[in-house]
Amino acid sequence: MRTRGWRLATSVAAGVSWLAWLGWPEVAAGARHPVAHKAAAKAPAKAAPAASAAAKAPAKPASAAASASAAASAATSADLGAWCKTLSAHVPSLPAAQCQTAGLSAGDGRSVRGVPLWVRDLPAAGGAPRFKVLLLGGIHGDEFASVALVFDWIARSRAAVGAATAVAWRVVPVVNPDGLMHAPATRVNARGVDLNRNFPTNDWARDAQPYWVKQTRRDPRRFPGPKAMSEPETQWIQRQIEQFHPDLIVSVHAPYGLLDFDGPPPAPRRLGDLQLDPVGIYPGSLGNYGGLVKRVPVMTLELKSAREVGEVERAAMWLDLQRWIATRVPAPVVRTARAGA
Ligand SMILES: [Zn+2]
Repeated sequence: MRTRGWRLATSVAAGVSWLAWLGWPEVAAGARHPVAHKAAAKAPAKAAPAASAAAKAPAKPASAAASASAAASAATSADLGAWCKTLSAHVPSLPAAQCQTAGLSAGDGRSVRGVPLWVRDLPAAGGAPRFKVLLLGGIHGDEFASVALVFDWIARSRAAVGAATAVAWRVVPVVNPDGLMHAPATRVNARGVDLNRNFPTNDWARDAQPYWVKQTRRDPRRFPGPKAMSEPETQWIQRQIEQFHPDLIVSVHAPYGLLDFDGPPPAPRRLGDLQLDPVGIYPGSLGNYGGLVKRVPVMTLELKSAREVGEVERAAMWLDLQRWIATRVPAPVVRTARAGA
């Protein structure tokens, strides 16, 4: 059954904020967005006729744009608190306080439903970074453990010492908030697209749709989208790659219990208990795009459980990742003083 939240979400063209979609009339009531307040207050009784009509219509790019615009005005620090509260209710082992203290900011990324793609930038402690990592969780909305792991690693990266202080991180704990917040959570985004099959790989135009039809037998969980980069979430991740220029992309998934690696070697043999086991490439996957098109090493972690990842395993994987990164960080440039300079 589609929940009230989803119905509301489709009425964003009428000015309802993403807060209302998340089902927080009490939060939206306190928000500064007057339309969100009004719409959310009405919601518990029944959806307005306009909202019902909108719910039946497929999502259109125009409404997505309006959604992003409405969300932009609603993305305040207070909204982060509300989002963290809901997120922690969905993700096992993620206290709301851990989300709230992770230093996230809304940035300019939005999901189809207009939810901010919260991001944390962790600059290198020792000045200009000598290595940059883009860390992504929750590309698939039903892989909760990936989100919990990324939050855990935000905390660990703040305690960096030695060569690790030369590393800058851009961290996005939840790339697919619409899928994660749906009841039940979905792998795909709000338009039914598998974001990890939507990147503009060299083989997308030729292979993505035929692969989906023949190999997956039109599995709705693996729909690659009507065209490459059709989704706001993948467009935004692509912009992060273009603007941040990562030296490594780490994308966390579950539950296959392995480590995949694409792009320029060397690959680590393992991260914690996850053994290197290259699974090959799929049309539209981030490993295929980042590793082969952009030539950036991509580590795809497949945790053993989609629900939770234990403390010991979090720490072990982090340690092995740090060891691998330490071998890749170039030596600092030594500037020699010139006489008279
Ligand atoms: Zn996944």
